[in-house]
Amino acid sequence: MIRIEGERIAEVGSQVRIPAGAAVVDLGDATILPGLIDLHTHLTGDERVHWEDALTKSTPPREALWGARNARITLLAGFTSCRDMGPSWPYVDVELRRAIDEDVVPGPRMAVAGSYVSPTGGAGDARQFSPYVDVPLVRNLADGPDEVTRAVRANLKNGADFIKIFATGAMLSKGIAPGARQYTDEEIAAAVAEATRWGKPVAAHAHGAEGIKAAIRGGVRTVDHGSDLDDEAVALLKAAGRRVFYVPTLYTYQAIDRPGENNPIPESERERARQFRSTGYAGFRRALAAGLPIGFATDAMVIPHGENAREFAERVKLGESPMAAIVAATSLNAEIIGWQDRVGSLVAGKLADIIAVPGDPLRDIGVLGRVGFVMKGGVTYRDELARRR
Ligand SMILES: [Zn+2]
Repeated sequence: MIRIEGERIAEVGSQVRIPAGAAVVDLGDATILPGLIDLHTHLTGDERVHWEDALTKSTPPREALWGARNARITLLAGFTSCRDMGPSWPYVDVELRRAIDEDVVPGPRMAVAGSYVSPTGGAGDARQFSPYVDVPLVRNLADGPDEVTRAVRANLKNGADFIKIFATGAMLSKGIAPGARQYTDEEIAAAVAEATRWGKPVAAHAHGAEGIKAAIRGGVRTVDHGSDLDDEAVALLKAAGRRVFYVPTLYTYQAIDRPGENNPIPESERERARQFRSTGYAGFRRALAAGLPIGFATDAMVIPHGENAREFAERVKLGESPMAAIVAATSLNAEIIGWQDRVGSLVAGKLADIIAVPGDPLRDIGVLGRVGFVMKGGVTYRDELARRR
């Protein structure tokens, strides 16, 4: 039994006294869990439009509206918190976060990147259509420690909660290959030093082993994707303790290559993902074997919004226990994002972010894809399991 007062959990126990006049929600034999947390989403992105095309064919208002739609879908799928890794149009995510916090649209609690910081020709450099085409509103390229410092300051001034940098190339980019590292040690250090001055963390996108290790050594909070996580990278993570975390996105490898009309990804980039698939799986197994804490993330937009729970099945298939996967998406992710005092577990004093699924996710992890009850901050957003009395 969980007693909720306002937006917070007041009491948890097998026998909790029901105060007079309290509304009772009886979830029967459903399994109750803390609201899920996804550390890598792009809620403002429409999964049917390639993010680079969005800059020439879409507008910030369209992305904001689609962001509201995606935020709602994500919340109803049981994800009550997201760390959003950056929009195509800078700062649309800041406004989405604000609209959710002001109760204008339903959505998860968001930590946002504002505008990701990329080297020229790197994974975040969308201006590759023609050297004669400029996108004047997108100023996310920074080369050299001074420009990186300036980009970090601009993002934090404009409302970002953390900084996203690209340590290597990406699958969904025409730029430098995913395995190739790009930012130098000095550039990574500049980003971390400036973000640290503001009390904010840095998340590093990294696929190749050298970029992964440079990011860990540079003191980022998370290494996202982390495809080619080799033994040395595992040892560096072990040595860093719980200051740096590996955050894989395992369902992306097959989602990028999914058939169907709603996949805008060109063959050249699907091939990049195919080449990394077994490497990414091996990296995850290596982290598991070493007993590393492994953050939970999906890269939603690269995978269809609302399918976030598919990541659980990937992790369990690769050898993780269902309980460890659930802990990753709840209390561990809360710690990684720095919200462990607010969310991630069902204890008195924390925000009442609660979901329920029919059946037992420890027997069938797939039930996490059939969330039937969602409460965020004491407000019910989905209610298909509850019997009210
Ligand atoms: Zn991403």
